Amino acid sequence: MARVSTRNRRRKRILGTALSAFTCIALVAGCAQQISGTPTTMGSYSTTEVAGLPVTNGPSGPKPGAPESPLPVEGTDNGPMDKLARNAVADIDDYWTAVFPEAFHRQQFAPVKRLVSYDAGGPGTQVCGENTAGVVNAFYCPPDDLIAWDRGTLLPELDNSFGPMAVVAVLAHEMGHAVQHRARTVRSDDQVIVLEQQADCFTGAYFRHVAEGSSKYFQISTGQGLNEVMGVLSFIRDSPGKSDFQGSNAHGSAFDRVTAFQYGFDEGPQRCAKMDFNDVSKRTTLFSSWKAEQDTDLPVDQKGLEAVEKSLREVFRDTGAEPPRITTDQSACAGRKPTTPATYCESTNTISLDLPTLQKIAKPPNKDVESGYGDFAAYAQVASRYALSVQKAAGLPLDDPAAGLRTACMVGAWSGLLVEDPIGKRNPVGSLRVVADDIDEGVSALLGEDGLIAADVNGDQVPVGFARVEAFRVGVQEGMSPCTTKYSAS
Ligand SMILES: [Zn+2]
Repeated sequence: MARVSTRNRRRKRILGTALSAFTCIALVAGCAQQISGTPTTMGSYSTTEVAGLPVTNGPSGPKPGAPESPLPVEGTDNGPMDKLARNAVADIDDYWTAVFPEAFHRQQFAPVKRLVSYDAGGPGTQVCGENTAGVVNAFYCPPDDLIAWDRGTLLPELDNSFGPMAVVAVLAHEMGHAVQHRARTVRSDDQVIVLEQQADCFTGAYFRHVAEGSSKYFQISTGQGLNEVMGVLSFIRDSPGKSDFQGSNAHGSAFDRVTAFQYGFDEGPQRCAKMDFNDVSKRTTLFSSWKAEQDTDLPVDQKGLEAVEKSLREVFRDTGAEPPRITTDQSACAGRKPTTPATYCESTNTISLDLPTLQKIAKPPNKDVESGYGDFAAYAQVASRYALSVQKAAGLPLDDPAAGLRTACMVGAWSGLLVEDPIGKRNPVGSLRVVADDIDEGVSALLGEDGLIAADVNGDQVPVGFARVEAFRVGVQEGMSPCTTKYSAS
């Protein structure tokens, strides 16, 4: 997040390192999320459902008593990681065998020819023309039609940080590349961002099959389980310098990746097959950041707050709502329990900020447990309370899940208008700017267990992360108007 002026490429976040030219993933430690609350149905959306499936908060992972796949794996140590990976591939095979002919008007799905397990910490073997020593990775190798994974570091770290379904997600992504080669859904191999987006979309389509209870091997809850899988996507990002829209290693921003996953989950493999350069370039935030070179973070201090307040006033001006007063004085608000890190007081139309907590949230994310989500995530908390003032002016209720989703959508709309080239050919507003990293901070914060971006006036978050991210995305992509129409209580 930055004020427009300088032209230095910002390299703020280092979340893992892409280690090879394969379709690869990189990893950082994540965090567990909690879900609570009683979902209710209302208006044009449902909080009892996730994309048409009931909200569940049961177990996620291997199904008790699931069979053990006999799929041959080269180099295996027959340990727990390989067993998990083997079962994942078997299940993903089952899924594609069932849907492939119909989705792509083609013949049967052929499983990949070879599966290879290796230990990145070991002496290394030749796989796909490269030595695996030190390659903390999982990848699909088109010439050999093989999927390989590092059982020594990558898989256990994914399992520890996000749970076993993270391992399944990574293999589903790699199988997505194999599907592309079979179905010829991407015309040119140099459109890396399209290949990656589509593989994430196929991953989402497969996870719907698991969420529907159709998997022999795995189960996943549509609440916390899906949050964790989306969390994996949002923690696996391009390395600095490799986030060019057309770069050879472009997996997409976290926002792009979660978007693609949700498309696949919502609409199935046919939607994924429609992804092409045009489709992706219309909505990617990477494209904007690639063009809009940015400077540094916006510190959470008086000056930064003033810049954000100005920006919020500019973006929400057309709503006609009276701008709220923003203060760091935590003065009491009659009848309103304070919410952290900001409180909206409707009786006085005032937002009071807890500055130290905002500054904590603004710390750049890294592996350090003390780190926050980043500057944008902090200011998005302020924007969320501002969005409540706009809703209040419109006579909308502020204390139900619809208010939480409208808030997420409006924060998305605000940030979408600060991108140098707003999605959908809108014009950017004011002089404050965000880049893809900022939007990603928003997605990470939304998947966290606290925070206000998708919370109502009482600080109650919408229980399901999938819905929070979706509402935020609607705002980023489509602007303000769907925020009140789509998320209206009946
Ligand atoms: Zn990939």
